[in-house]
Amino acid sequence: MAQLELRDIRKTYAGALDETLKGINIDIASGEFLTLVGPSGCGKSTLMNSIAGLETITGGSIVVDGEDISGMEPKDRDIAMVFQSYALYPTMSVRENIAFGLKIRGMPKEEVRQEVERVADLLQISPLLDKKPSRLSGGQQQRVAMGRALARRPKIYLFDEPLSNLDAKLRVEMRTEIKKLHQRLRTTIVYVTHDQIEAMTLADRIAVLRDGELQQLGTPKEVYDTPENLFVASFMGSPSMSFIEVAIDRSDTGLSVTLEGSDGRRLALPVPAYLENWVGKRVVLGIRPEHISQPDEQKRDNPMVEEGRFTVEVTEPTGPDVIAVIRLNGIDVQCRLDAEHPVEWGEEAELMFDMRKVVFFDPESEKRIRPQ
Ligand code: ADP
Ligand code: MG
Repeated sequence: MAQLELRDIRKTYAGALDETLKGINIDIASGEFLTLVGPSGCGKSTLMNSIAGLETITGGSIVVDGEDISGMEPKDRDIAMVFQSYALYPTMSVRENIAFGLKIRGMPKEEVRQEVERVADLLQISPLLDKKPSRLSGGQQQRVAMGRALARRPKIYLFDEPLSNLDAKLRVEMRTEIKKLHQRLRTTIVYVTHDQIEAMTLADRIAVLRDGELQQLGTPKEVYDTPENLFVASFMGSPSMSFIEVAIDRSDTGLSVTLEGSDGRRLALPVPAYLENWVGKRVVLGIRPEHISQPDEQKRDNPMVEEGRFTVEVTEPTGPDVIAVIRLNGIDVQCRLDAEHPVEWGEEAELMFDMRKVVFFDPESEKRIRPQ
């Protein structure tokens, strides 16, 4: 276990015009599971390769347990990395693949044997030890690749999209395995994924990256409930948060916004008092599917809850619930409805808007408007 500090990490590739990493600052606690998410090309792999020492950084420093390792060779860093492609040695058995790194480090034969068996046991691949990689399924190969990293007992593990080559079912299984493994070993892990559900379920904290810049660093709940800006809000959550530009009005009962359905019917919704400074101005309302649902008797008395009738344009059953699309102010908005009380497309549905967790953004800066 080790503490990892990324201090103002900058990277410009030779010959490139733009900086790929533009000053990344993250403190990762000893034993923490940090997931790194962001769209393709935002610099996730560059950051991981820099931590591992496979790329040299052009600014800043990487500090492990107080020691600056920025200039060290990869082999001296005591950091193990698992990549998206397994890169197992095809001519070696599983046992030899796992043992390889230990042997070249000069570990005595008997210790190597014990270590391979410990890791195989941990990953439940003991029956596969004498097989060749080509005999294994994708999931089994990925386990072996993990086994190779685990055998080293390094200070820090880096995973760069280790599951993205696997099919959906296996990915979910392996996700659970990795979580269990971390709960048992409590090693410091930095884990890259472009799958935001993977990011949410695995992480102690999530770092959201865009164009080489850190957008937000926080617990899954913080990032989901209080996204710093429109980018983070749209990136995290599936189906995505809907964004509607609205004006803040003042009425007898407090502040409100008005939404218009596809048939022209209007509904005034209560909004929090911290938007006082925005009265008469336009803001972007961010509302998640679960904030619009079928009426719930228990919520009815809450002053931040309002009901209205809207025409359902499309329904998408997911199993446990149905995602229904309604049009508000000319925008498709997803609602999460109960699968037990289905609505058909084209029908009108009575919907309840729970405005307690809805967020608001400044349309200019795209930053979330914070409660004062
Ligand atoms: P991600 O892993 O988030 O998809 P990468 O770190 O692989 O992103 O890439 C970030 C940016 O850096 C991309 O624009 C990519 O084209 C560029 N890049 C990556 N590797 C190199 C390289 N070896 N030389 C030049 N540019 C690179
Ligand atoms: Mg990558």
